[in-house]
Amino acid sequence: MLELRPGCECCDRDLPPDSPDARICSFECTFCRECAEAKLGGHCPNCGGELVARPRRPAEKLAANPPSTRRVYKPQGCVQATQP
Ligand SMILES: [Zn+2]
Ligand SMILES: [Zn+2]
Repeated sequence: MLELRPGCECCDRDLPPDSPDARICSFECTFCRECAEAKLGGHCPNCGGELVARPRRPAEKLAANPPSTRRVYKPQGCVQATQP
């Protein structure tokens, strides 16, 4: 099951489980759309994998399957891996 982490690793913006702007990689490194597109070029700075839109969990499922509250914030990692 997805953790649904609560914020962007780059800018710490809130990304609630119903946000259409959340992007994740296969390891669930989590970013907002703006950072994923503008800063990261669509690729995760931690693993190099592609960042895709995080599926939204239906509200009626959230009570029994609550999202993660573990906030990951690593602004130092937020540079494109391909930058010189
Ligand atoms: Zn961000
Ligand atoms: Zn990753």
